[in-house]
Amino acid sequence: MLEKVVIANRGEIALRVLRACHALGIKTVAVHSTVDRNLKHVGLADESVCIGPGPSAESYLNIPAIIAAAEITDAGAIHPGYGFLSENANFAEQVEKSGFVFIGPTADVIRLMGDKVEAIRAMKAAGVPCVPGSGGPLGDDVDENIRIAREIGYPVIIKAAGGGGGRGMRVVRTEAHLANSIVMTKQEAKAAFSNDQVYMEKFLENPRHVEIQVLADGQGNAIHLGERDCSMQRRHQKVVEEAPAPGITPELREQIGKVCVDACIRIGYRGAGTFEFLFENGRFYFIEMNTRIQVEHPVTELVTGIDLVREQLLIASGHKLSIRQEDIVLTGHAIECRVNAEDPDTFMPSPGTVKRFEAPGGPGVRVDTHLYDGYRIPPNYDSMIGKIIVHGPDRATAIARMRMALTETVIEGVKCNIPLQQRIMADVGFQQGGQNIHYLEKRMAEQKETPPAV
Ligand code: ADP
Repeated sequence: MLEKVVIANRGEIALRVLRACHALGIKTVAVHSTVDRNLKHVGLADESVCIGPGPSAESYLNIPAIIAAAEITDAGAIHPGYGFLSENANFAEQVEKSGFVFIGPTADVIRLMGDKVEAIRAMKAAGVPCVPGSGGPLGDDVDENIRIAREIGYPVIIKAAGGGGGRGMRVVRTEAHLANSIVMTKQEAKAAFSNDQVYMEKFLENPRHVEIQVLADGQGNAIHLGERDCSMQRRHQKVVEEAPAPGITPELREQIGKVCVDACIRIGYRGAGTFEFLFENGRFYFIEMNTRIQVEHPVTELVTGIDLVREQLLIASGHKLSIRQEDIVLTGHAIECRVNAEDPDTFMPSPGTVKRFEAPGGPGVRVDTHLYDGYRIPPNYDSMIGKIIVHGPDRATAIARMRMALTETVIEGVKCNIPLQQRIMADVGFQQGGQNIHYLEKRMAEQKETPPAV
């Protein structure tokens, strides 16, 4: 078993990883920036090391500083959490070259999945259903690109091979706009991701976002833990997630789950991972793989009873997977609401001091957050300050529990998006379930147009 782990992250996920480590008797090292000395997990960690100033480029993205922290504390492994360096193949490589265990897949697999053109190629070869597309990077031959688009059929979407975070994409509805859109997306991709490769896909008009959670030990064993529905999105960012996804039958789940498991074994996957799909008219279309733990992992934990971070630590310790596919049984329904320190109407971030924080409770309520009374949210990082996750025997009970939990939550001193989450939970369309990725933004636009009844 690993003896000491450096947690190369901050906020709620750093606390989540710390808890999983301590539950296994693993010692922890918190690395933090100068503005993060008061983070909850820093106080709970066995040791802590300041790795730089507030801006993440100089601290949480500072590879030499993080590796030095592992060296001086004599740690054995580094957990990257999500975001920051979690999908940086160079980081994983340097961690392992420096003699530490990277808690995640090998650098080669991270690199493969980080290049979307290559990832899609590898997934296609592994039998994973993908969105109809160019199958490779687009060249400069305008006629050839027109031919590809005609074959796929309009509308198409031009995407950056190195893209991420919902950026570097452009929808093209008519041939007249194709050539120019490709040139523009290439320019943007070069500026944003230092890689001007772009590719083309069929643009699906009304898909849902459904993703499959996997665990693999890198020793030939892999399982899937069912799916999550993350279709409630704003600007391609997830707002609410749930498991299981409404309307996905056990047959469909087993079918797509098996495809993902086979792909994991084929590419030599190790650790926790997520296959992201668009789901339309009963069919799955792979869009990308996330090679790390995800923000929304708790909904899967609540319906399967499996602690995914504990499994990550066991796999990184060299253990074979002890859970078999037949051990995975889904029970009830789980929903997660992301809590962001932001204006619920304008979405402007709202950093500052949390004057008062009261967490919700009761049956089936889990709160993953680093907040406490008097905690100062720095302006430097993502505005997510926690997650409220509920579990119930069925979806309606889970929604009712979430509505209670949101009502009970008190956050004073900063603005937060709980009013938006309350509107979502009260929305009849959400309550029906199975809405597509455009639903939330459409509803928000409608509500803006209709002034509230006096
Ligand atoms: P990123 O890595 O930037 O998150 P993804 O490939 O995961 O990029 O796509 C992000 C989002 O963009 C998807 O969740 C979906 O909303 C939209 N999207 C991407 N590809 C398509 C497509 N072919 N058709 C329709 N929407 C798409």
